[in-house]
Amino acid sequence: MKKVLVTGGAGFIGSAVCRFLVNEKKHVLNVDKLTYAGHTESLKEICGSPLYRFVQADICDRQKISALFCEFRPDAVMHLAAESHVDRSIDGPSACIETNMVGTYTMLACALEYWKTLPVTADFLFHYISTDEVYGSLGSTGFFTETTPYDPRSPYSASKASSDHLVMAWHHTYGLPAIITHGSNTYGPYHFPEKLIPLVILNALDGQPLPIYGQGDNIRDWLYVDDHARALLLAVKKGVPGEIYNVGGRNERTNLEVVQTICRILDEIKPRKTGSYQDLITFVADRPGHDHRYAIDATKLETQLGWKALENFDTGIRKTVQWYLDNEWWWGPIRSGRYAGERLGNA
Ligand code: NAD
Repeated sequence: MKKVLVTGGAGFIGSAVCRFLVNEKKHVLNVDKLTYAGHTESLKEICGSPLYRFVQADICDRQKISALFCEFRPDAVMHLAAESHVDRSIDGPSACIETNMVGTYTMLACALEYWKTLPVTADFLFHYISTDEVYGSLGSTGFFTETTPYDPRSPYSASKASSDHLVMAWHHTYGLPAIITHGSNTYGPYHFPEKLIPLVILNALDGQPLPIYGQGDNIRDWLYVDDHARALLLAVKKGVPGEIYNVGGRNERTNLEVVQTICRILDEIKPRKTGSYQDLITFVADRPGHDHRYAIDATKLETQLGWKALENFDTGIRKTVQWYLDNEWWWGPIRSGRYAGERLGNA
């Protein structure tokens, strides 16, 4: 694998993937529409590299995407571009349906057209980055495995599940070499501050309420972004076409535990003048259809591809809090300008 076309590389996970790929001396073409969630600033470390190129384009624009395939001639595609916010998908599903479903269809159509022009011996892989949310909600026990039946509950997860089916249909019907990974809730540096963890860190620093849905007892399996990005690179290098790999950190926490942990770290490293950051915790009306618990069994990825998470939640969250303290240049303009911060945390 030498040349990788990444979509959504100006987003949270995509920017980490681009950084990892360039560090591994791969040529990267980052195709991103730069929606509210895309920030080229997240690529500051690599934007001067001769290995890296950025093109602003919509993945639904078939002519443009097709031309980029012909010109760049990738041997792998890592397709991350998406509308990724569950709350936004509930308030207005159309962007989510357009990008996540029609956009994925367009990517598949262009990839197939291009793949058919390659010699039969050429290596090529289409990697679709999906989510554990396609499996629906767990009770208090059990884990999602690669054979768990699909049961998406929100417009976001339904759009991701639909694309999973399209990807596998293109593999089985047309032979396109393709894999899917299902990642669990990811957190870390460069995470847009509408999602739970960055929102809570930045609201806490501003002395603003820390909103928690319902009783805060929804459980997510938290995965540090660099661990997720390393899993994606392993999957695209070693994954077997037609296979699905689940990526999860084995770090289940309730939303309340997550917020309390952030407050404890901030109390220690940047104490308030009076009281604890926990005094800012505010319980708000629950999100409609809020899935209770997600938990991934990552055994297949660990045993077949040799992946192992390097961070546990305690080490990853501490790094994350410190990163936000040290990098106001990145989040300051987002909080104060283009993005008004009207949303709640999404977990
Ligand atoms: P993000 O919202 O931070 O980034 C999405 C990127 O896609 C942005 O840069 C945006 O500009 C771009 N984009 C949106 N619509 C586009 C379009 N029509 N054409 C081109 N670019 C477009 O998302 P993220 O959190 O980095 O997630 C990346 C992928 O990983 C998504 O597919 C998401 O479903 C999946 N995923 C995310 C998580 C998570 O916890 N964040 C977990 C599992 C899977």
